[in-house]
Amino acid sequence: MRVTLKAPAKINLTLDVLSKRPDGYHEIEMVMTTVDLADRISITSLESDRIIIDCPTAYVPLDERNHAFQAAKFVKEKFGISRGVHIQIEKNIPIAAGLAGGSSDAAATIKALNQLWNLKMGVKEMADLGAKVGSDVSFCIYGGTAIARGRGEQIQPIAPPPSCWVVLAKPPIGVSTADVYGALNVAQLGPCKTEDMVGAIKHKDFKEICSNLSNHLESVTLNLYPEVKRIKETMRRSGAEGVLMSGSGPTVFALTEKDSKVNRIYNGLRGFCKEVYAVRLLGENM
Ligand code: ATP
Repeated sequence: MRVTLKAPAKINLTLDVLSKRPDGYHEIEMVMTTVDLADRISITSLESDRIIIDCPTAYVPLDERNHAFQAAKFVKEKFGISRGVHIQIEKNIPIAAGLAGGSSDAAATIKALNQLWNLKMGVKEMADLGAKVGSDVSFCIYGGTAIARGRGEQIQPIAPPPSCWVVLAKPPIGVSTADVYGALNVAQLGPCKTEDMVGAIKHKDFKEICSNLSNHLESVTLNLYPEVKRIKETMRRSGAEGVLMSGSGPTVFALTEKDSKVNRIYNGLRGFCKEVYAVRLLGENM
């Protein structure tokens, strides 16, 4: 038997850093939502006690460094399962991009194994297991739209924002999340926007959503990589209603409700950025 699942990317509509914790992590509060750009995870059970990752994309580790590998290992440990698993990953989400690609693969692996081995885990149980792999995995288990707190692993699902176009552009640089947090000055952060964003989403007010887009990590990454700033400016010039960097970057996204603007934003970026995607905001739990 084979279970195949989509593993969608996420974007941050807000990312507020509240404080630095004694354990070295930052206390954050953010609104995340899924977009229609997804990896595809296909899983089969093996008789032998092995975890095999099959992924032809460069820079994706095929060993225990792969987030899907770790997810399978934690599931096997939790339930004392001695069978193995073959995990095929079709990678469509850019890597190290701030779009939670690896985390989404891990979440899809947990969900697929839950089905394949009939483990009867509920969503919260899967999210708690996912948090052992990484903070964003819990959100990816829920999908849809949610407020994430703590180090990102405490999830409160909320109703989705109105659907719109999302144009994503990833410059050809890899950003280390640890480096970005390391360069962050917690004493000099702007206002927190998560509460206002949640209000805007509740009102289904696209303009209000765009005016409350905010990410405390953005200025750090923009200073480190001026090309990210250039992408933002190009998106704005092309008429995007809202523009923001996702997670620790370097992917920047533009939001627009208008079909007529999508091509203009997309084509404006294609000239100097190879990885550009025009997708729909999913927002809803799939
Ligand atoms: P996240 O929120 O999951 O950290 P991200 O978009 O910042 O998301 P990923 O695409 O997950 O970053 O990649 C971060 C690093 O994780 C990569 O450099 C890669 O070596 C490693 N990695 C492990 N598993 C995967 C996977 N399944 N897909 C992509 N990268 C993976």
